[in-house]
Amino acid sequence: MRKKTVWAKLLGVERTVIERVELDEAEGVVVARVRPRRAERSRCGKCGRRCRRYDQGEGWRRWRALDLGATPAYLEAAAPRVECPEHGVIVAAVPWARHEARHTRAFDDQAAWLATHCAKSAVGELLRVAWRTVGSIVTRVVADARARSDPFEGLARIGVDEISYRKGQRYLIVVVDHDSGRLVWAAAGRDRKTLRGFFEALGKERCAAITLVSADAAAWIADVVAERCPNAELCTDPFHVVSWATEALDEVRRETWNEARRRGQKAVAHELKGARFALWKNPEDLTRRQQAKLSSIERTNARLYRAYLLKEQLRQVFHLPTDAALALLEAWLRWARRCRIPSFVALARSVAAHRDGIKAALVHRLSNALVESMNTKIRLITRVAFGFHSPDALIALAMLSLGGYCPTLPGRSS
Ligand SMILES: [Zn+2]
Repeated sequence: MRKKTVWAKLLGVERTVIERVELDEAEGVVVARVRPRRAERSRCGKCGRRCRRYDQGEGWRRWRALDLGATPAYLEAAAPRVECPEHGVIVAAVPWARHEARHTRAFDDQAAWLATHCAKSAVGELLRVAWRTVGSIVTRVVADARARSDPFEGLARIGVDEISYRKGQRYLIVVVDHDSGRLVWAAAGRDRKTLRGFFEALGKERCAAITLVSADAAAWIADVVAERCPNAELCTDPFHVVSWATEALDEVRRETWNEARRRGQKAVAHELKGARFALWKNPEDLTRRQQAKLSSIERTNARLYRAYLLKEQLRQVFHLPTDAALALLEAWLRWARRCRIPSFVALARSVAAHRDGIKAALVHRLSNALVESMNTKIRLITRVAFGFHSPDALIALAMLSLGGYCPTLPGRSS
């Protein structure tokens, strides 16, 4: 085998001519002087189209390659500019690196793989790069992968949610695909405009192909979905509906407690103060003490106990087969409307306002659980991404792990 072929293999480059390889003793690095093969020359850095050569650009340039054993390695080549009819004057593409990168493709891929599999400190130490650099690499790798294929192909049932990713009101909107279980899109923000950005990226045709959207009850999500997805049904997340009921119940508990204190009923007040968890928990999870507490409430405080039953019955709706669930939902609404407990009358109004979305969730058995679990994972990634200078790098890191964009290690097929 020719020496140059061996070098190309070692450096992890393809379609590249190795001119010579030297040890730069002053810097203690290996430098390989390279050039693209003839067929790869004078191509636009963005679209790869063959273009007219423009000028020398800024002359010689170095790209960091994977270490050769224990020694850092670089590729060195001319970086001429070409004139693309679409992209104007632009640095020519090189087969060994992504456009505008200062690291080779193999280096980028390895860094991206390590960032999703290893501790942050290990990645920096092993690759001899700053964590910020890993952030830009990850962003580039994901953008490149998403540009190569349609990231929204076959999207029909999606989940939308918001997640706070940093203190001080910093939010991301995330979109998941219920069918593949993957994260498909995320952006910084939590408003109509940001969410519209997703549907704009999707385009009219693919928006029309969306059939179900699960979300919490946020009006801004519902509005944008209604505006952009003519064929989509919105499914209101059961978990959120139940959490409203839990809040309504807690309000009744607090009122009752205050009332008891006002009347000087110390024992009652004391008991109610400790009853919070008994009222909160699902009946099947109650401890014996909590069960006792609950039956004492049943005996001594009919109104609070009624509120408890209202909460439990609403929760039950989401555990029944569809037909029974729909019937119970209607029965619950009738009961709650005339229960004369203000927080539950108000809850009945909210539930009625979201009736269609709740019914759709019951019929299609779609909750936002996938998005919620995705959010938990993104929160962990947020900690890893600390030190990246932009939310884009955080999103890219999330896409690598949760969107299916993690590259294989260089030289491996899987
Ligand atoms: Zn171009």
